[in-house]
Amino acid sequence: MSPIDRQTLDQIAAEIGLTADEIARRKEFLEFTEADIEKLCDIHDHMTDVHLEDIFSELFYTHLTAFPDLRAFIPDEAAVGRLMRIQARYFMRLTAGDYGESYVLDRLAVGLAHQRIGLEPRWYTGAYRKYLSFLLGSVYAHIGHDEGRFLATYDALLKVVFLDMELALDTYFHGDRQKLLHMANHDALTGLPNRMLLSDRIERALLQAHRDGNQVALLFIDLDRFKNINDALGHPVGDAVITEAARRLVAALREEDTVARLGGDEFVAVLSGMEREETIAIVANKLLKSLEAPIAVATHEFYISASIGIAVYPGDGATQDVLMKNADLALYRAKQEGRNAFRFYQRGMNELLMTRLNLETRVRRAMEKGELTLHYQPQVDLGSGQIVAVEGLLRWSSEGMFIPPLAFIPLIEETGLILPIGEWVLETACRQVAAWHAQGILGLKVAVNLSMRQLWNKDFFDVVWRILAQTGCRPEWLELEITESILMDNPTEAVSVLRKLADLGVTIAIDDFGTGYSSLAYLKRFPVQSLKVDRTFVQNVSCDADDAAIVRAVIALAHSLDLKVVGEGVEDAAQLAFLSSLGCNLGQGYYFSTPLPAAEMTPMLLNAASLAPGFDIRNCRVRWIGGRIAKCMVDKGACPFARVPGDLCEHPLVDRITAM
Ligand code: C2E
Ligand code: MG
Ligand code: MG
Repeated sequence: MSPIDRQTLDQIAAEIGLTADEIARRKEFLEFTEADIEKLCDIHDHMTDVHLEDIFSELFYTHLTAFPDLRAFIPDEAAVGRLMRIQARYFMRLTAGDYGESYVLDRLAVGLAHQRIGLEPRWYTGAYRKYLSFLLGSVYAHIGHDEGRFLATYDALLKVVFLDMELALDTYFHGDRQKLLHMANHDALTGLPNRMLLSDRIERALLQAHRDGNQVALLFIDLDRFKNINDALGHPVGDAVITEAARRLVAALREEDTVARLGGDEFVAVLSGMEREETIAIVANKLLKSLEAPIAVATHEFYISASIGIAVYPGDGATQDVLMKNADLALYRAKQEGRNAFRFYQRGMNELLMTRLNLETRVRRAMEKGELTLHYQPQVDLGSGQIVAVEGLLRWSSEGMFIPPLAFIPLIEETGLILPIGEWVLETACRQVAAWHAQGILGLKVAVNLSMRQLWNKDFFDVVWRILAQTGCRPEWLELEITESILMDNPTEAVSVLRKLADLGVTIAIDDFGTGYSSLAYLKRFPVQSLKVDRTFVQNVSCDADDAAIVRAVIALAHSLDLKVVGEGVEDAAQLAFLSSLGCNLGQGYYFSTPLPAAEMTPMLLNAASLAPGFDIRNCRVRWIGGRIAKCMVDKGACPFARVPGDLCEHPLVDRITAM
């Protein structure tokens, strides 16, 4: 243990308020006078003469070592001699006659040392008792014949012991208070400032910025999908990840910046003295980068990322509350727009976005009020032109306002609401596909999007099993769409559930393929039947050579692994032609149809079903306007692709039909 320097002692004395005046007041209250000091000096001389301090030390140590709790404080035998000498010196100072500043500091040093090693007051108040009892006998033996002198000396001893004990206790509790203060202001897991200290730091930074005329940036940092780690691998692993993330965030900033932990996976960084927005953006980027390297915990390796929302004083708010709220809104926007990114607060976000809290309550209510529905978007076999599957897509309309799934699905994934909602989606889709089969639309599959949370739920297999049984949906009519990250983040667990489902006959598709990261080796191991090329690649195939090359490569890769490929987001004929030319198996997108409610999907399916062998071209009445575009002349609902007679027909199979 490092020795306690004079400066620290002076500082502690100042913090406790041990001024010369205060010491004088204490002595006065203890009635500790010059006469007492004289008596103590007398007894001191006697003790030195007959080496009473050594006898006392012996006795004291024998007593002390009889208690295992105390023995634990003695590092080894060799230390005993040294400790005994310190002890002897300590007690001898009680009678040495000097009770001024150096005595006080000496007592403080000992109190602090006790505090540091965790020796509690009850042990050293016990030591004073031992000292007094010992002296009772020794002093009596020495001057007991003179009753008056004995009583006065002993009274002086009592006074000095109490003076001494007060000082020791003062330091002890002072240290404890410091510890408590630290605890009250810091987060126990990471040691970072907590919400309370953060608030203080922000307040100071704002004041300073006001004086200096510069800016303060508040960065709300939230780890992406952290709940999944906690839920799947338990809190100790989650804690280790948080601790490492905290360490990296701190390391990425200047010493004068503050990073605080608000709780869970939420951090706030305060950057003061900022002059330009670009600088803030650079720091935000640095923070995101610092989290990029994998984090190893036990046998796992995690890739984490964070989203950051930024509000800047004074532009985005004059007070701490407003700034925090706005940084939170910006964070929410960053999450919504794809995570692993930062967003500055923009005026108007308030109106555009509901606060997260608000949104969560509204989603809960939406479920109860039946505001959630499932729409279906067809997947067309590019070879035969048949609709072979539909993808169920969640829709939420609240008081006439449509809320896009990407605005609330990430949130309900985080809050766990995805479990009941996901179950509802699965059940609705299964029930619907069973109903379509009952209407004669044979071979149709329904695809349902899964979130990580659902797959990691221990009961997921049972949930699917029960829903299939209850709705009469056959396993082979159901396809589950999962994203690459679901597989890659937790391959072993994911594989076993998926394999069990695949054994039942349920098929698995990888959604948004190309946007995440996949190990090709994993792909081969997974019971996956198809890849859905993300629509961002499909959209650019005609204008971006890189995207075209990616799509070409994905299709080739998938085919070599014996997987089917679905082109997502097909919006025009050129994209369709490109995909078809590469042998892409299925297409999905607005070119064929937007997602529709079941009631609107049914006639399309019934008619598309008639495109199967036996379809009679004479029933199809289209008036050609030129090229591929034609006006649909069939009755409402009779044409699989145009919904209203007279609509422009963007029938993908127009060429084939004409050819027939
Ligand atoms: P996704 O699974 O990739 O679904 C396809 C998305 O692309 C849908 O967006 C669809 O409306 C849109 N889309 C289809 N064709 C086109 C096109 O030609 N052009 C363009 N620009 N977009 C097209 P949506 O419905 O907004 O859903 C977005 C995402 O939300 C889905 O992406 C899926 O990841 C998620 N999602 C939707 N419903 C559910 C659900 O029930 N559960 C879960 N876990 N996620 C869902
Ligand atoms: Mg999907
Ligand atoms: Mg997709």
